Amino acid sequence: MQSSRSKHRLRLVKTAPANAAPAAARDSDYYRRIEDYAQRIRDTQDVGAIIDILDEALSETRALSRDPGTRPTAENLQRTEREIEAMQIELRQLRGLVHVDHLTGLLNRSGLDLSYRRESARADRANSTLGVALLDIDDFKHLNDHHGHQAGDAALVHLADAIRRSVRPSDVVVRFGGEEFLFLLPDSASSHAARALDRLQDELHRHPLVYRGHDVALSFSAGVAVRQRGQSRDTVIAAADRALYAAKRAGKKRVVTAEDV
Ligand code: GH3
Ligand code: MG
Ligand code: MG
Repeated sequence: MQSSRSKHRLRLVKTAPANAAPAAARDSDYYRRIEDYAQRIRDTQDVGAIIDILDEALSETRALSRDPGTRPTAENLQRTEREIEAMQIELRQLRGLVHVDHLTGLLNRSGLDLSYRRESARADRANSTLGVALLDIDDFKHLNDHHGHQAGDAALVHLADAIRRSVRPSDVVVRFGGEEFLFLLPDSASSHAARALDRLQDELHRHPLVYRGHDVALSFSAGVAVRQRGQSRDTVIAAADRALYAAKRAGKKRVVTAEDV
């Protein structure tokens, strides 16, 4: 539902600037410039860049409406101005959605880039720790095979809801891959991060997924690392991943910290 709305918005953005040119301005420079903006919009995939181009188009339209010597009627210019503003509002909303995983409503990988930069800079400024945890659902292939792909999707949504209930508002959670989730836990030593994930495991145990009237047991394994000052994102995630691998090898349904690997 959300994704088809987004597609609709994108189509609107790709076609509307050319259509939005005032009829009375067909032969004018203004029309050619609007065409040029439309072409630049078609050529970019970057929502932020599209908003900037619309900003330029909007200020040009406003300048024209103040110029009594221009050919487009004031009414047409006002309509164009309103249409451009509406597209900007939709695009700003869309820019937010670009970073959101549609199934779970958590951040997706592109959201991680921004969040990691923000959280690591904050940790460096405050001289505080940043816990990083990787969570992977146990035997998820089996769940899909046994209950069907829709049950698998329901399990991902169920886990995401449990995560939202159990983390602090300052924690960042990303759907990192199919059935893998990444946590950024500001001000967390690894023992604190591991306890937070143990609580989540308990929560899942107490509230299993109910799918078509049946309880579907769900567990995960997780690896926790703490970012050292200046450490790159890939290095700390690799440490959490090694701990996750150790948790799987040790029998799953457990949390392992990087120091214990
Ligand atoms: P392990 O305990 O070692 O992690 O085993 P596993 O079965 O969880 O891991 P494996 O990597 O073998 O399988 C992951 C499965 O996750 C395979 C893939 O089809 C499924 N999957 C990935 N993304 C989605 C999704 O969005 N929805 C559903 N239903 N399944 C997904
Ligand atoms: Mg996996
Ligand atoms: Mg798995």
